[in-house]
Amino acid sequence: MPSDLAISRAATRRPLEEVAADMGIGPHLLEPYGSAASKISLDAIDELRDRPRAKYVVVSAITPTPLGSGKTTTAIGLGQGFRHIDKLGVVAIRQPSMGPVFGIKGGAAGGGYAQVIPMEALNLHLTGDMHAVTAAHNLLSAMIGNHIHKGNHLGLDLQEITWRRVLDVNDRELRNIITGLGGPDDGNPLQTGFDISAASEVMALLSLCTSLRDLRERMGRIVVGYDRGGEPVTAEMLKAAGAMTVILKDAIKPNLMQTAEQTPVLVHSGPFGNIATGNSSVVADLIGIHAGDYLITEAGFGADIGAEKFFNIKCRASGLTPDAAVIVATVRDLKTHSNKYRVVAGRPLPPEMLTENPDDVIAGAANLRQQIANIRRHGVTPVIAVNAFPTDYASEHRAIMHVAAEEGVRVAISYHFTEGGKGAVELAEAVAEACSEPSGYHRLYPDELPLPDKIDVIAREMYGADGVDISPLAARQLDKYERAGFGSLPVCIAKTHLSLSADPSIKGAPTGWRLPVREVRASIGAGFIYPICGDMRTMPGLSSAPAAERIDIDHNGEIVGLS
Ligand code: ADP
Ligand code: MG
Repeated sequence: MPSDLAISRAATRRPLEEVAADMGIGPHLLEPYGSAASKISLDAIDELRDRPRAKYVVVSAITPTPLGSGKTTTAIGLGQGFRHIDKLGVVAIRQPSMGPVFGIKGGAAGGGYAQVIPMEALNLHLTGDMHAVTAAHNLLSAMIGNHIHKGNHLGLDLQEITWRRVLDVNDRELRNIITGLGGPDDGNPLQTGFDISAASEVMALLSLCTSLRDLRERMGRIVVGYDRGGEPVTAEMLKAAGAMTVILKDAIKPNLMQTAEQTPVLVHSGPFGNIATGNSSVVADLIGIHAGDYLITEAGFGADIGAEKFFNIKCRASGLTPDAAVIVATVRDLKTHSNKYRVVAGRPLPPEMLTENPDDVIAGAANLRQQIANIRRHGVTPVIAVNAFPTDYASEHRAIMHVAAEEGVRVAISYHFTEGGKGAVELAEAVAEACSEPSGYHRLYPDELPLPDKIDVIAREMYGADGVDISPLAARQLDKYERAGFGSLPVCIAKTHLSLSADPSIKGAPTGWRLPVREVRASIGAGFIYPICGDMRTMPGLSSAPAAERIDIDHNGEIVGLS
């Protein structure tokens, strides 16, 4: 099979005005950024409001292994698949961070014949939204430093400043730094650090806001630290929120692109999946929900994390109700969950994993069963998408179908990677059927449930834990947030995505364990509290052979080495 980049280059693109016209979006709502992408004015939300509502489908997965289960690829393949049954599927995904693009993951445009094109544009800068987030975030950092330098009238406690800086580069050297070195004119020495831009609270609130006004208000609510009396200090108090919003005035508009089969894709925002929601933007979905027959959106990580945050944080912000949830499963991932193999990121698969072995698939099915339950717990109908790999055996696919039958869940083997949309027709039909059932969607917990109980519900019901162990520090922080009036916010648990537990090495569906909460932070502008469970990196590092070493420009000025 040709490389992803070769497939992307060979695909023909339609003018984006035509793609938009299929969505009921007129040219007056488009702001083209070259031929690859076009911004869509937020006026589209109101203009499309009277059109029929699309069925809303979230794509999630079993607990991923370092192999990647193919959620993006499947979401795109499903969007393409609907075309083959004469329905319009609009796909909504996050914008990739350039950190991973130049790090180990490679691109995030899908893969094979189920891709967003041109993949170079998607993976590199696109329309500059990521840079705008970086600029807005760092403006606030500069204004905090300046406020202190000019006398600190708000009385910010220098030990309690939580706002750091961000950059869209994997650079471990910047994780912990001291700023303000030099002399009295050069600021105050402060220990701080950089996170990757995807981890910025500005990114999280961009993904959750519903309008420019809402963006402005959320920006003002950002808590940058606490004063000497323990009271929160906000971006509004620092008079930074207006200028930060101005920097984002174009970044708030979703980007329209297309798949390899010329169907619409909305690409917008890219919040981290662990310390934030890992879901694409609410405003893109508010447009997409009236722009086709199906709106398909990807939620990062497994259903316990990505779909849970989609149901309880993103849908809470948007007011939209999902109709079905796709759970992507692969033979390789299920075999990994059998606990018989050790899969290491960046290393070749153990060869014995590629031999025919349906029993291993069955042995790993406990994780799939838990993720099915997680979706059903929210009243939504799950559909299993088996993302087929060339190395799979029919007996192994039958093993997954057997588990699906036992659980009473629709299942389709999907060949979008090798065949494009026509390989995903069965999946599209299964999803259409699931969407025709009434949705019983509801959230997992009410707003008024105290924060520790919210964590407990998620730990027990989504992760299968016996309970939660809250450290003394975390308990003090939770208490502080409740007293500051943040207790009604949802919680966004920061936990490894590689296990249902807090230990990335434990596969399957572990029981008899408790979720440790080390520390609890607050993203008040974005609108959630995030308990940190286990080690969480917010600034990745590069590997010994980063993808950046293979990426270059050839003699024809074409990019090579992007995968
Ligand atoms: P996720 O969104 O779950 O992280 P992606 O869709 O980005 O996963 O896919 C991860 C990687 O796996 C990509 O490089 C993609 O090209 C590859 N991939 C996905 N599905 C298949 C498949 N069916 N066959 C071969 N490679 C695949
Ligand atoms: Mg993805």
